[in-house]
Amino acid sequence: MSNPDEALAGGRNLRNLSAAVQNSTTVYQRPKLKITDVRTAEIKAHGYQVHVRVYTDQGVFGHGEATDAAHGAVPLINVFKQFLIGQDPLNVDFLFENLRAFGVFAGAQGGQYVTALTGLEIALWDLAGKALGLPIYQLLGGKMRDRIRLYCDTATPTLGDPAAREGLQKVKDLGFTALKIDVDEQHSPWSWDTLRPLDWAPPLSPVKVNLSASNAEIDRMIKKVALVREAFDPRIDLAVDMHAQYDVSAAKRLAAEVEPFKLFFLEEPLPAENVQGLRDIRESTKTPIATGENLYLRHGFREIFEKHAVDIIQPDIQKCGGLLEARKISDMAHIYYVSVSPHCVVSPLGTMASCHVCAAIPNFLALEWHWLRNLQLWRNFVKEGDIIDKGYVAVTDRPGIGVEMNEEAARSAQVPGTPWFNSGDGK
Ligand code: MG
Repeated sequence: MSNPDEALAGGRNLRNLSAAVQNSTTVYQRPKLKITDVRTAEIKAHGYQVHVRVYTDQGVFGHGEATDAAHGAVPLINVFKQFLIGQDPLNVDFLFENLRAFGVFAGAQGGQYVTALTGLEIALWDLAGKALGLPIYQLLGGKMRDRIRLYCDTATPTLGDPAAREGLQKVKDLGFTALKIDVDEQHSPWSWDTLRPLDWAPPLSPVKVNLSASNAEIDRMIKKVALVREAFDPRIDLAVDMHAQYDVSAAKRLAAEVEPFKLFFLEEPLPAENVQGLRDIRESTKTPIATGENLYLRHGFREIFEKHAVDIIQPDIQKCGGLLEARKISDMAHIYYVSVSPHCVVSPLGTMASCHVCAAIPNFLALEWHWLRNLQLWRNFVKEGDIIDKGYVAVTDRPGIGVEMNEEAARSAQVPGTPWFNSGDGK
């Protein structure tokens, strides 16, 4: 048995060693940062996006992006800012969870509140990666794949329009292995309803308030699917979006009739909130059913999984809660053997942020890309140029998100009259 004094001395030495390790090795040389400011910029490209930057006392800043439900996010982010000044930005989940819990009486279950929080969360992960010198995928558990498969969201094919085939040729030329078309029509010539016309002033689009569909409307949808299916090699995946504008009956009929086309998935046949209705559709067909771009947080997806309501989920990583929340939602999906095909309409910066999640999860299927009509801006939006090569994005190993906004190109899409990261020089 050793001398008790020696044992105690050994214990002291261990404590000294531990202190030395914590003070001198790189693992414990954790950056000590404080948040000093949070600023925003607003862009209109494919839809409306709010860009968020979180600044620190050591020069490094993080950049995030939020979309779709982002109208109204800027004032919310300015409220969050009051809580964030002086905080350690590397405690990302701690800050996120506190701001979420803080807002339960103010709409923190979804919509603008969660979307604003999402832009902030992504900026914090970018900041954490830059501060630690690691790509975000490394902070999310590591990389399962090096390249992320995209599917190209195309224009709605107009039957009889010779330009429709030209648009499809463009998708082929870009080398995508999957694409998506829209089949919903707000003002179908074959709807027998006598709804009053409603002409919103731009940029608002008409909406479909009657969710039913006549046989002729269903036939038009099938013709569109057939037109596109015939234009592509059968190995190219084809998805179809119904934009949450139909009822259970219409969706069941369409899902059954498109079965011979072996769709990649049929997206949002119903409004997002009716989980049992989605399950009814899924049980009626072999066509894979997808939903999720209008759901928020793990809480919004829980019933979808518990009721086995869909085959594929489509969280929008720029509005569902952010990168770690998307990872958590994806992990929930995985235990139900549900695949993840995130909705994505944001810039190359936000798309690369999403790619870090897609790289880290096992059950990834394909990531949306929707800038076919904004190709020039897409190719110039970040300093790294076009991040897509033949329908795939190579996940960057640079710290944080790993791409940097090209301010001159991005400002060409600035929302007029809005500040540019609060510099006070809005145009
Ligand atoms: Mg959609």
